[in-house]
Amino acid sequence: MSFSTLESFAHQMDGEDPLKKYRDCFHIPPSKERDRSIYFCGNSLGLQPQTAYTLIKEELDAWKKLGVDGHLAGQRPWLPYHEFLTQHSSELVGALEKEVVVMNSLSVNLHLLMASFYRPTGKKKKILIENNAFPSDRYAVQSQLRFHQNHPTEDLLILQPDEGELITTSWILDYFEHHGDEIAMVLMGGVNYYSGQAFDMRAITQKAHEYDCLVGFDLAHATGNMEMNLHGWDVDFAAWCGYKYLNGGPGAPSGVFIHERHLGRKDIPRFEGWWGHDKSTRFKMPDEFIPMDTAEAWQLSNPPIFAMAPLLASLEIFNEAGIIKLREKSIRLTNYLEFLIKNTLDSKIKIITPSNKNNRGCQLSLQMIDPIDNIMDTLHKNGVTADWREPDVIRVAPVPLYNTFHEVWEFSNILNDIL
Ligand SMILES: *Cc1c(COP(=O)(O)O)cnc(C)c1O
Repeated sequence: MSFSTLESFAHQMDGEDPLKKYRDCFHIPPSKERDRSIYFCGNSLGLQPQTAYTLIKEELDAWKKLGVDGHLAGQRPWLPYHEFLTQHSSELVGALEKEVVVMNSLSVNLHLLMASFYRPTGKKKKILIENNAFPSDRYAVQSQLRFHQNHPTEDLLILQPDEGELITTSWILDYFEHHGDEIAMVLMGGVNYYSGQAFDMRAITQKAHEYDCLVGFDLAHATGNMEMNLHGWDVDFAAWCGYKYLNGGPGAPSGVFIHERHLGRKDIPRFEGWWGHDKSTRFKMPDEFIPMDTAEAWQLSNPPIFAMAPLLASLEIFNEAGIIKLREKSIRLTNYLEFLIKNTLDSKIKIITPSNKNNRGCQLSLQMIDPIDNIMDTLHKNGVTADWREPDVIRVAPVPLYNTFHEVWEFSNILNDIL
């Protein structure tokens, strides 16, 4: 598709956008000069769905009027409340419903999953992560290595491309040819939080399996951003958070995927709690733990209703809009941003995110060639919310649910004026 730098073009794209009505489903924070700021931080904290308030209020009312009976009565009983999130979540990641559960927070879930899927034996004991992995993932992985009496740096392999280069799929596949025998588990971002690079999860999983490595993906930056098919790609496990692209609100619960072939197996270790017990006999409170035969076996505790309600509100919007259509718009929106930056700011900004749409989601990471002081403050004064990573990168994420082509056009003008 060909783009234009004219403002009228941006308006035309918005006019033709089949998803434009969803913008009004969200509260867009105002700024000093604008009713609605240009919010490009959906990769960090997604915006509040208008229906979030209603869904939380429903549960406050249920608690007020029903007390403990709210576990079984009311519009959405609390005992199975997490189940209301399962279908929409599984569709977003391309999984069977029994492979998905929403619970806890992301870093907690990474540990619960590694308790099951990091099983070092002999020299096959290393963990492979990507370069610039999110710090929490790195801490989690290194503490797992220590927990198993392995070495936190020697047994940690990092996919490290040459300076200034991006990692290519063939480079990663080749890495397994050399190190596959030492790797027990792979834990990579589906989309890297820093560069915005999306990895070929299918190819990586397939190659890793040739070497009997278990493969997990951290989908914090992929879920709600990319189309995925975790089941079909044969991924072993994955987790994501509910508050970035999923708009579930600060600290919203995380989602977990465990491939069908690992469900209902007695030979996989797991940390257990009563919510993982077979739900038909859970309240007989038996001494012996009988696991659910779904991913819910990994649940420990009863679900946090007030934290889940806004996530449910958002998942209902995703379900209505559809991830396929959202991704189509997202590709256009981000390609348009790339076009404007290349056309107007090519000498001042290097885009470190891959330019092929298959290797990125909506985020572009813009590296300042000559970083200027307080650029984020200046952007903010102009009504733009984006994210800064030291020493010189602005992460910009126009999301298809609530951002517009005209905002992208305005952003590129504001940035141009500043630089
Ligand atoms: C956002 C993010 C986290 C955050 O972890 P929490 O446990 O939700 O605080 C972890 N890993 C990645 C890759 C992230 O992008």
